[in-house]
Amino acid sequence: MKLNFKGLRALVTGAGKGIGRDTVKALHASGAKVVAVTRTSADLVSLAKECPGIEPVCVDLGDWEATEKALGSIGPVDLLVNNAAVALVQPFIESTKEVFDRSFKVNVRSVLQVSQIVAKGMISRGVPGSIVNVSSMVAYVTFPGLATYSSTKGAITMLTKAMAMELGPHKIRVNSVNPTVVLTDMGKKVSANPDFSKKLKERHPLRKFAEVEDVVNSILFLLSDSSASTSGSGILVDAGYLAS
Ligand code: NDP
Repeated sequence: MKLNFKGLRALVTGAGKGIGRDTVKALHASGAKVVAVTRTSADLVSLAKECPGIEPVCVDLGDWEATEKALGSIGPVDLLVNNAAVALVQPFIESTKEVFDRSFKVNVRSVLQVSQIVAKGMISRGVPGSIVNVSSMVAYVTFPGLATYSSTKGAITMLTKAMAMELGPHKIRVNSVNPTVVLTDMGKKVSANPDFSKKLKERHPLRKFAEVEDVVNSILFLLSDSSASTSGSGILVDAGYLAS
């Protein structure tokens, strides 16, 4: 998708791999200055080689204090992509406090924290902004083993709406993208059972999962002025799954 983000500064979380990494590359190619935030420093080193000039930040977003230290003084940000998440699979009956707490800290609490930091900066500068939360179609439907993960994405649906409601008067838009399986490291892990994966794919009207590029394109659309009147909403990138 050809969009021009020249003159804007974007922050992408979970920038080291998968959807986040390709989002950084697309924003960089579209002229934005990009702050790339992730947990594994080697990923940032290789990304900085591919995208000269990006600002790498290495932090565990599940750690509130470390995140405040790393991003509290990050400076002006116009576009935010809250993409970092973990998919920790456990049957509901065996779900542990540790997995539940970790999942909510990374997948939900960090969205609140990073968005607060960024939105406060936008409001104090008096500039418009756009925030995209990378959610999932499992915000709306679920599968065995995903009780906790699905719950975090369900929470993102309401957090997106609440943020849109309170930040709208400041001309800050907040939306989500909700993909089906994308065969990143995370997607491969979640759909590792070939029988389950085949049956799941066949239940999609388009008989396929989503490509990373499809998700990135929807993120860029929601970040851009092309979606100027869209807020508190979500784009399904689900190959039709929710229609089935
Ligand atoms: P990947 O696991 O491929 O990449 C996730 C990235 O987020 C990695 O760079 C990872 O770093 C980083 N990250 C994870 N936890 C933290 C943390 N605590 N602090 C900082 N960075 C962190 O995932 P995807 O690209 O597939 O997923 C991206 C988003 O898309 C997620 O929100 C996911 O829930 C959503 N999604 C994915 C789907 C899929 O099938 N892949 C389907 C629907 C939604 P590291 O590897 O170093 O931990």
